[in-house]
Amino acid sequence: MKIASFEDFRVGVVDGDTVYDMTATLPAFLAQLPRQRVNWLIANWATMAAPFADYLKTGEARPLAGLRLLPPNPAPQHVFAAPANYQKHIGELGTRTVTQGGRSAREQGFFLKAPGSLVGAGNAILLPRGSTRRFDHESELAVVIGRAARNVPREKAMEYVFGYSCLIDATMRIEKGVAEEERSMRKSFETFTPMGPYIVTADEVPDPQALQNRLWVNGEIRQQANTGEMIVGVAELIELVSSVLPLEPGDVIASGTPEGVGPFAPGDTVKIEIQSVGSMTLDVRECAMRAPRAY
Ligand code: MN
Repeated sequence: MKIASFEDFRVGVVDGDTVYDMTATLPAFLAQLPRQRVNWLIANWATMAAPFADYLKTGEARPLAGLRLLPPNPAPQHVFAAPANYQKHIGELGTRTVTQGGRSAREQGFFLKAPGSLVGAGNAILLPRGSTRRFDHESELAVVIGRAARNVPREKAMEYVFGYSCLIDATMRIEKGVAEEERSMRKSFETFTPMGPYIVTADEVPDPQALQNRLWVNGEIRQQANTGEMIVGVAELIELVSSVLPLEPGDVIASGTPEGVGPFAPGDTVKIEIQSVGSMTLDVRECAMRAPRAY
């Protein structure tokens, strides 16, 4: 099943070119907390899977093309991200990387992206106005957590996965000795975490370590790898994060980028596609407003 969030935080099931709006099947109290609808849905999937599977009968059909897609979970409590998780990516950024000595995600652990940086397939990536810095795309498989997870061994970790989505980890690069802001800040500008176009439930992705992960800029392929090349796989990532703190239903883990990371600029169009998971295209633009400090 493909679950999307759209317009004013409505929730629906995507089938081909149609979204079946299922918002009416959710408890009325969620109208007061519309951003929380998907978190609630995932946490209550044991009872909601059946009514959602009935979407053809109970959903209100709307053409997908006319809807503004939001991040499929608009408000995860956490967005974790793996650095240095594909061997060929390690080292390709030269002095622009904060990774030292070839260390992978296994040694570095995870970092955080602010959930407020999420944006859906229906929006653009907005770069700081007037910036001369380098901004990069990172094409990543997003893992959406299905239930509370603490100290989960990797052998049991896949039981905690709700589904998958495409995620672009947009990044402002450091300039050694000139500008070396913290990683979480450089990756958390508003719109720097495009996610979507929907969450594909785990039952439709039998092996998340065997998916083509590709990204294009202006139609030219920049990144192309298989998720089987990850150093720390999905199960071990869940073991890693849950060894530090509890994962909550709806939480997102960005599983790291393969090689081919490169810059984009205002006017560009970026497309990400992950096999069995989906595809989305976003424009890159400048922010309308200039920040009170330079980036
Ligand atoms: Mn990344």
